[in-house]
Amino acid sequence: MSRLTDRQRDVLLLIAEGCTNTEIARRLGISVRAVETRTTRLLIALDARGRANAVHCGYQAGILTAEKRRHGDHAGFRQHESRGERPCTDCRAAETAYKRAIRHRSRSAA
Ligand SMILES: [Zn+2]
Repeated sequence: MSRLTDRQRDVLLLIAEGCTNTEIARRLGISVRAVETRTTRLLIALDARGRANAVHCGYQAGILTAEKRRHGDHAGFRQHESRGERPCTDCRAAETAYKRAIRHRSRSAA
């Protein structure tokens, strides 16, 4: 199964939303050139023939379906962030609970 870095996944999510490279660059706060580099690596990682095919491969690999429109958990919170949005109330509450659980776990493991 294809493995993408967080950076490549952010780009894939925005490509799936129909963003151009310029829009992706603005949303992620990086240069267009950096978007192009990530896109190239993303296509290689997914063994995709182009942007449209990359979206298809992303769904096939479960990268897009599993994460799309997900709210109320840590993954949802991360997605808001990757889209440059303010996380919704559900996701913020879930993230707080998630962080508390992590802290609790590391304390009891120590
Ligand atoms: Zn949310």
